[in-house]
Amino acid sequence: MTVNLKQDVDVTVVGAGPVGLVLAAELALSGATVQVIERLAEPSGAMKAGSINVPTAEALDRRGLLPASEKVQRELLERVGAVARVAGGGPNDAGRGASESRFTGHFAGMILDADLVDWSDADLAAHASVDGARVVPQRELEELLADHVARLGVPVCRGVEVTTLEDTGDGVLVGTTAGAVRTGWLVGCDGGRSTVRRLAGIEFPGTDPELTGHLAVADIADPEKLASGWAWSTRGAYRHGPQPGRVVTVEFDRAPADRSAPVTLDELQTSLRRVSGTDVTLTALRGAATRWSDNARQAAAYRSGRVLLAGDAAHVHSPFGGQGLNLGVGDAMNLGWKLGAVVGGWAPEGLLDTYDAERRPVGAWVLDWTRAQIAVLRGDPRSAALREVVGDLLSTRDGTTYAVKKIAGVTQRIDLPGDHPLVGRYAPDLRLTDGSRLADHGHGGGFLLLDRTPVGALARAAAAWAGRVRSVTDAHATPTGVLVRPDGVVAWATDATDATDATDGSAVTGLEATLRRWAGAPSPAPEREPVG
Ligand SMILES: Cc1cc2nc3c(=O)[nH]c(=O)nc-3n(C[C@H](O)[C@H](O)[C@H](O)COP(=O)(O)OP(=O)(O)OC[C@H]3O[C@@H](n4cnc5c(N)ncnc54)[C@H](O)[C@@H]3O)c2cc1C
Repeated sequence: MTVNLKQDVDVTVVGAGPVGLVLAAELALSGATVQVIERLAEPSGAMKAGSINVPTAEALDRRGLLPASEKVQRELLERVGAVARVAGGGPNDAGRGASESRFTGHFAGMILDADLVDWSDADLAAHASVDGARVVPQRELEELLADHVARLGVPVCRGVEVTTLEDTGDGVLVGTTAGAVRTGWLVGCDGGRSTVRRLAGIEFPGTDPELTGHLAVADIADPEKLASGWAWSTRGAYRHGPQPGRVVTVEFDRAPADRSAPVTLDELQTSLRRVSGTDVTLTALRGAATRWSDNARQAAAYRSGRVLLAGDAAHVHSPFGGQGLNLGVGDAMNLGWKLGAVVGGWAPEGLLDTYDAERRPVGAWVLDWTRAQIAVLRGDPRSAALREVVGDLLSTRDGTTYAVKKIAGVTQRIDLPGDHPLVGRYAPDLRLTDGSRLADHGHGGGFLLLDRTPVGALARAAAAWAGRVRSVTDAHATPTGVLVRPDGVVAWATDATDATDATDGSAVTGLEATLRRWAGAPSPAPEREPVG
C-alpha cells in the first residue's frame, strides 16, 4: 500500500482514535494544515465507550454533528432494545415518564435512578437539549468523526506507525514506517501506551493497576446461571446485560499480564466463571472483546517543546463511570483552536500554556473519580461496607443528583477571570428568538458572540476581530452578552443594562479586553463561512 505522507504540514496528529479525529477537525477549522497518522490499517472495532457526556454531545452539536449522532443512537436502540435511558422518543421509550427517559449512568455499578434526580437543578436544566444523543458507541462515534474529518479535507494515513521523533526547535522530524515527515507541531493522540509520550521523554506518574476487567458481547449457552445487573463476590464483580450477551467482568487479584494480546473466548469464560462462581458456558464472541485495568496515570506535562499530548496519551484510568473518551474530546476541543491560533500567528502571549493549565485539573478529577469506584467495588469486607454507605447516599435525591451532574460533566468549570456566573463554564443551551440555538451558529468553529443589545454595541466592537469571531444578534434578554470560545467555554458574559447603550462603553470595554486575551490583537478578516 502506498501512503502519501504530507511534508511540512503545520500539525501532524498521531492516532485516529476519537481524540485525534476531533483534534484534526478543530485544527482544520482553525485554518491549519493537518494530517493524521494511524498505525492500524482499519479501525479496530473493539468495544469501548458506549456513551458520551454533555460537553462531548455539545461539542458535536456546535459542529452540526448531533443529528448524525442521534441517527446512530436510534439505530442502536433498534438493535439492542430498550436499555438506554435517553430522551427524544426512541423506539422503546413509549410509556416512560419524563425523568425516566433522561440519561443518568452509574457509579461503581450502582445505577443512578432517574426518578431521584432533581432535573430542575440549574446546571442540568441549562444543558438538557443534548440529552437525546448521549448513548453513542465509540465505534459509531469514530465513524461519524472520520466522515467529518474527510469533509474537512484532512488526510488520515492508515497503516503507518510513528517510531522516532526529533524536536528541532522550529519543527519536529518524525520517523514513521512509511518514511520521515517534517511537521511544525506533533500531537500524540496515540492512546494510553503512547509512543509519542515515551519518545518525548514525558513522565507518566500515577497508581499501579490491581485489577483486570473484560468487556465483550458473547453467545451464552446458559445465561440463566448469571444474575442480571451488577453482582459482587469476593473474587470481583460482573455484569450481564443490559442487552443479551453483554458481559463485564472485574477481577481484583491481578493486573493484566499482556494487555495487547487479543481476548480469547476461553479467557473470558474463565474470568466470568471465577467472578460469578458458576460453570456458565460461552460458545462464541461477537466482535472484538476488550481487556482493561485500573492503571491511573497523568502525564507530568501535556507539552514538551513542539510536541503535545491529548486524550489517553495524556491520562489513563479504569473505564468506570465512562469518562475517558469525554476527557480526551475535551482536551482536543481545548487544544485545537489554541494550536490553530499559534500556527495562524495570532495567538496571544501564553495561549498554548493555558491548555495544560485548564485541562490538568479535569484529568486529575477523572482519575480520582475512577479510583473512588475501585475502592467501592473491591470484594473485601471493608469495601462491601463502603458500598453499602455509598449505595445509601446514592438512594437520596441529593446524592443521585450530585453523581449525575458529575458524570454528565455539567459542573465542570475552568478558573477564568470574570464575575459573571457563566464565565469558565460550558455555554448553556441558549435559544434565540428566530428559533435557532446559539450552538447552530458554531458549525464553522471560531469564537461566538451573542449580542442582545438593541443597538448591537457588542457586535460592533467585535467586528474588529471579524475573522475570528462570529457575532449573532438577538432580541434584548439576559444575559445581554456572551462570548463563547471555540471549545464552548464562556470567556465573558454580562447582564449589564449599560451594554445596551452604545454610548456607554463599560461592557464593551470588558468584551474588548477579553477578546484581546483570547483572540489576540484585532485584525479584521472576512467572516468565516460554515464548513462541512
Ligand atoms: C472497556 C472500555 C470501556 C470504556 N467506556 C468508556 C465510556 O463509556 N465513556 C468514555 O468516555 N470512555 C470510555 N472508555 C475510554 C475510551 O475508550 C478511551 O478513553 C478513548 O478511546 C481514548 O481515545 P484516544 O483517541 O485518546 O485513544 P485511542 O482510542 O486509544 O486511539 C489511539 C490511536 O492511536 C493509534 N496509535 C497508537 N500508537 C501509534 C503510533 N506509534 N503510530 C500511529 N498510531 C498509533 C492507535 O492504533 C489508536 O487508533 C472505555 C474504555 C474501555 C477500554
